[in-house]
Amino acid sequence: MIPVMKPWLGPEEAEAAAEAVASGWVAQGPRVAEFERAFARVIDCHEAIAVSSCTTALHLALVLAGVRAGDEVIVPSLSFIATANAARYVGATPVFADVDLRTQNLTAASIEASLSPATRAVILVHQAGVPADVDAVRELASAREIAVIEDAACAIGSTYHGRMVAADATLATFSFHPRKLVTTGEGGMLTCSTAEHAQRARRLREHGMSMSAADRHLSDAPVIERYLETGYNYRMTDIQAAVGLVQLGRLDELVARRRSLAARYTEAMSDLEVVVASDPPYGTTNFQSYWMLLPPDAPIGRDELLAALHCDGISARRGIMAAHLEPAYTAEPAPRLPVTERLTKDSLILPLYHDLTHRDQDRVIASIRRHLGADRD
Ligand SMILES: *Cc1c(COP(=O)(O)O)cnc(C)c1O
Repeated sequence: MIPVMKPWLGPEEAEAAAEAVASGWVAQGPRVAEFERAFARVIDCHEAIAVSSCTTALHLALVLAGVRAGDEVIVPSLSFIATANAARYVGATPVFADVDLRTQNLTAASIEASLSPATRAVILVHQAGVPADVDAVRELASAREIAVIEDAACAIGSTYHGRMVAADATLATFSFHPRKLVTTGEGGMLTCSTAEHAQRARRLREHGMSMSAADRHLSDAPVIERYLETGYNYRMTDIQAAVGLVQLGRLDELVARRRSLAARYTEAMSDLEVVVASDPPYGTTNFQSYWMLLPPDAPIGRDELLAALHCDGISARRGIMAAHLEPAYTAEPAPRLPVTERLTKDSLILPLYHDLTHRDQDRVIASIRRHLGADRD
């Protein structure tokens, strides 16, 4: 079976994790601090704060943005469920806006159509690694004092106008789940543009403590910590950070390999009437997912195609989910989301991972072309 995704982990990650265990410091400590500095250097952002997942990073970002109960947060329905859930964690209402068919991302126009006097924030997702057009959204939001939080869960190594995605974001979040390019098992990163946000995020991820447990341990004199506000335990462990440091060193290679495999898919499908993941004019994607949208008159439905691929030993996946169609959200006001509904119904994600061989990729291509009636047996 050809899997849809496989993390690229080697003996270096295993050694790094073993070193952290042998050191006796396994909770958040020096390796987490080092991982944060390395991450901020790679993204070229002001500060990076490691947390337990992208989901918890999104929660903290909304707290930092001052979003409260009764506020509205504009989000794409076409995203992993965590994007919408985060708004509910602070008691806010997620308001679903539609996305662009080629990028699968919110646009300034789709956000504008969803504004209300209660709008306090937008969570702009760089879906599947394809960068969203942040500048246009920022312009719209800043005029109305609306916070823009970038959900870059999938977008490490993608670029926007020549810089890493989220390099100059006010608040952005990343995921290190194995389904993304760089993994720590579970884990996430919050990045921000001010020292005030960074300091408060560090406090919030650690129970609201005035001084981190690691700093207390290193202090020469006994310190009695204070608890300044209601915080959380959203810490990353040093074992995860040790793995993350090695993984971060592989980022350029990971992105280059994915882009080269994606180019092979695009070339092989160029005569088909499908829309595929691609670079927008203003940036580049890391191809976290290689997705393909079937035409409305395709000879085979998306779910049938997934089943046929499965029979051929290929594990593909449905495209991005739509939160407004899930039971957890059907009570929320769902405006018309025609592009979202088409994408979630007719798109699929093809196998793409670092070790995917051209031979296996050619099997995927041949199978898809045959089932779409492009080639006879
Ligand atoms: C994966 C993902 C998340 C959640 O990331 P976790 O680290 O698993 O919490 C959030 N948003 C988007 C867009 C994602 O793809």
